[in-house]
Amino acid sequence: MDFALSPEAEAVFDMARDVGRAEIAPHAREWEREGTIPRALWPKLAELGFGGLYVSADKGGSGLSRLEATLVFEALSQSCPSVAAFLSIHNMCAKMIELYGSEDLQERFLPRALTMESFFSYCLTEPGSGSDAAALKTRAERTNDSYALTGTKAFISGGGYSDAYIVMCRTGEAGPRGVSAVIIEDGAPGLSFGGLEDKMGWRSQPTRQVQFDACVVPAENLLGEEGHGFRYAMAGLDGGRLNIAACSLGAARAALSATLGYMAERKAFGQSIDQFQALQFRLADMEIELEAATVLLRQAAWKLDTGAADATKACAMAKKFVTEAGSRVVDQCLQLHGGYGYLADYGIEKLVRDLRVHQILEGTNEIMRLIVARQMLAAR
Ligand SMILES: Cc1cc2nc3c(=O)[nH]c(=O)nc-3n(C[C@H](O)[C@H](O)[C@H](O)COP(=O)(O)OP(=O)(O)OC[C@H]3O[C@@H](n4cnc5c(N)ncnc54)[C@H](O)[C@@H]3O)c2cc1C
Repeated sequence: MDFALSPEAEAVFDMARDVGRAEIAPHAREWEREGTIPRALWPKLAELGFGGLYVSADKGGSGLSRLEATLVFEALSQSCPSVAAFLSIHNMCAKMIELYGSEDLQERFLPRALTMESFFSYCLTEPGSGSDAAALKTRAERTNDSYALTGTKAFISGGGYSDAYIVMCRTGEAGPRGVSAVIIEDGAPGLSFGGLEDKMGWRSQPTRQVQFDACVVPAENLLGEEGHGFRYAMAGLDGGRLNIAACSLGAARAALSATLGYMAERKAFGQSIDQFQALQFRLADMEIELEAATVLLRQAAWKLDTGAADATKACAMAKKFVTEAGSRVVDQCLQLHGGYGYLADYGIEKLVRDLRVHQILEGTNEIMRLIVARQMLAAR
């Protein structure tokens, strides 16, 4: 068993870390204040292949493994987890278009997704259905050559910002088999947006409701087949969960590294605070947690890459463990900064706020436990 990253994987990590330091970190607080991320950032990331990280190379993507892709999110999150997580959603959509889109859809949408001239959002959650996503109510009525969508999507990252939306909607019976997925472009008649949500973290990402009032979508914008949309939506989530976990890991590593530096300089009772054994033990505990989180995340990514039978369970375990470990570590880092940790200038309080939502989305951590427990019970 070899636990080392390949030189290629190390190079992917370094490239993402460096572009994050140059293009994201210096602006992350300003973007948070403004509540948006400038569009000019995306083509710079797309030049490095970040618009289609795991879209296959023959379709113009980077063709990275899921493991390598997690390294991109881990590295970018050292600069800003909110920006990194936003990029993950776009990548999930790009992969859905590659996997399920007709040739026509791929031709129309994939090139712009890869260059990031177009940014994509993923619309599953509704005001009345989050964890129980298959209960969604947004209705798509088929006419001769189009669908008319009526309903509301809630909490949509990039709502009112994105150029196109992959929308899960009901074309048939109740439950998952009645769900289809369509691509709706910004400006479609009947498409509108709610107000900007005022959030605890991820504040640079605009989050809004996405509303459809007999919104007209050409029939050829259907992804794959009618009635398969829920399966498509779920298929993207194993990898999405790894990406979110990677965002927690990268941010927690950055916080721990900043804390080590701070503790060497901060003096109390005549010595630097890193000389107190009680605090050294906390450092050790954080390092152990992050190492365990890293191993679990890499193993889950490897299982997804190799098509292991228990990949979904592994991704759920990693998502739960890493996002909770990440939040515990950034909270401890804030504590070790004392009052300064609470000030925005030190960069730690933002991480505490940004990471909290990782326990809620891409399936809550309760749903992650549900996935793990169901597999355990089925395998008895
Ligand atoms: C900032 C932000 C961005 C988001 N971005 C997107 C996006 O881009 N696209 C999108 O589609 N969605 C997005 N979401 C929505 C997110 O995926 C949902 O909030 C999440 O799935 C939980 O759904 P809910 O909020 O309706 O909570 P609920 O499902 O109502 O859950 C409430 C509580 O009950 C628990 N619970 C529910 N069912 C069970 C069960 N069976 N067993 C045990 N516990 C259970 C949950 O874990 C939770 O603690 C975003 C959310 C946030 C906060």
